[in-house]
Amino acid sequence: MKQVAVVTGAARGIGAASAARLAAEGAAVAILDLDETACAATAAEIAEAGGKAIGVGCDVTDERQVLDAFTRIAAELGAPAILVNNAGVLRDNLLFKMSAEDWDTVMGVHLRGTFLCCKAAQKYMVEQRYGRIVNTSSVSALGNRGQANYAAAKAGIQGLTRTLAMELGPFGITVNAVAPGFVATEMTARTAERMGVTAAELQAKTAAITPLRRVGRPADIAGVVAFLAGPDSAFVTGQTLYVDGGRRL
Ligand code: NAP
Repeated sequence: MKQVAVVTGAARGIGAASAARLAAEGAAVAILDLDETACAATAAEIAEAGGKAIGVGCDVTDERQVLDAFTRIAAELGAPAILVNNAGVLRDNLLFKMSAEDWDTVMGVHLRGTFLCCKAAQKYMVEQRYGRIVNTSSVSALGNRGQANYAAAKAGIQGLTRTLAMELGPFGITVNAVAPGFVATEMTARTAERMGVTAAELQAKTAAITPLRRVGRPADIAGVVAFLAGPDSAFVTGQTLYVDGGRRL
């Protein structure tokens, strides 16, 4: 693929792996994340491996920052044809302890952020009559104790995905979602910390109840993202693909 790709939350974890995979397949990649320095470091790693990438500091919940980021990317790399909405945060708590602020934060990054980036990207994609949008849902969309905010946001992303597939399909743009199960990243390491266990202990416990008997790695998700962002998924749209080793909550 020779297109320009934008990956949000790509300074580390699943986003960084997806950005590296897209770059390895020939895309010029914009690494978007809150911390511009961390973005630049991830972009430099991709460049060292022979890929083309730039780092762009951007809070996906801020409409002005998102619009400015896309303008800068279009000027520096060219019009984006691939968007991977991956930025995410957790603010887990049981309902009676969940603050309205923690509800808003999670809705803001996952749902509002995905909406704002899709809206900014579609302008460039409609002009090209081509585009690939890959959103990030989760197995938690099916419901998960302690994650009312996150589960609602990740289920919302599935509805947004199906709706945008209908609206943007006539312009040659596909919109799909990937729904990871447990993936070993900083996000799940922090969850382990909150639960009072080590990351390795939580991974082992999760692997034991997963049919494939292991947890996911960022590269497992990146491979599916690359499929949904590439030419082989040309007739696939509006889908949510679970990538969870067979586990269901
Ligand atoms: P991660 O390691 O925590 O990385 C998420 C990245 O998103 C971080 O670099 C974070 O920056 C960035 N981010 C947060 N808020 C942002 C904002 N407002 N604007 C721009 N960037 C922002 O997470 P991950 O495990 O790789 O997860 C990636 C995605 O997969 C998320 O959407 C997550 O919900 C989803 N997912 C993960 C799992 C899993 O098991 N790991 C399972 C299902 C779904 P800061 O560090 O500066 O906050």
